[in-house]
Amino acid sequence: MTLLTFRFAPSPNGDLHLGHAYSALLNRQLANDVGARLLLRIEDIDSTRCTPEFEAGIYRDLEWLGVRWEEAVRRQSEHFAEYQVALDRLIAEELVYPAFMSRGDIRAFISERERRGRDWPRDPDGAPLYPAIDKALSRAQRKARIAEGVPFAWRLDSAAALSRLDRDLVWTEFEDTGLSATRHVQARPQDWGDIVLARRDIPTSYHLSVVLDDALQGITHVVRGMDLFHATAVQRLLQQLLGLPQPAYFHHGLILGPDGRKLSKSLKDTGLAALRSAGATPEDIRRMVGL
Ligand code: GLU
Repeated sequence: MTLLTFRFAPSPNGDLHLGHAYSALLNRQLANDVGARLLLRIEDIDSTRCTPEFEAGIYRDLEWLGVRWEEAVRRQSEHFAEYQVALDRLIAEELVYPAFMSRGDIRAFISERERRGRDWPRDPDGAPLYPAIDKALSRAQRKARIAEGVPFAWRLDSAAALSRLDRDLVWTEFEDTGLSATRHVQARPQDWGDIVLARRDIPTSYHLSVVLDDALQGITHVVRGMDLFHATAVQRLLQQLLGLPQPAYFHHGLILGPDGRKLSKSLKDTGLAALRSAGATPEDIRRMVGL
């Protein structure tokens, strides 16, 4: 029998807010309901934005909320060597290519196209898809640029990746918090184009480390916000390419701010530490998120 395992995977790049509280409390509650483990993962690959202070804040806030997790905590920044192994495999299989365009280059390229009256395709988050310029470079041209020291990221060759699939890609999504009924969602990774799998400075990216860690930690249930619903398509594709097991997903509704928009880490009045200093109790937080 598989051990059921949930995870809460915050990034220590800001204070936890009500949206995180909802996700953490829901994971804890659902794990309890089905007798599963709950693991905590610190998603800190971005060393420019993640800090030990924010990480300490995560533990403090979760403990205050009464959310318990099973040790040991997995901190992604300690596992770059494991991500590198998977990246090397994708490089060897020619499923990724070096992408040299900087953000500025991409912006300039796209605004030039748009000036000429062509709408540039966007991903489900609204970001422009990566132009197919670098993919067209020959092996020799790539080598020469790398030898010149031009910085590059590794991007997924989505066309090559999709051609590897022999049938439709779907994922299992729970219909509600009862976790009894599921539906199959058709994954459309092509909507994301050639996503970054390893950033310029590190051998990984959000998507690559999430799928590897979910597999390494034996995660069977991914419960996270609806804002990551469409990203699941990319993660399913990577699981398929890397031969990883697939968890089932539940994407919960988002807690919205007073302006009806998604909460952001900069919104002071919904941060858990700020609410606690203003006298809120863990029970108040549960009430505020509807649990
Ligand atoms: N680290 C991500 C975040 O804080 C969540 C990743 C996930 O749950 O897959 O938004």
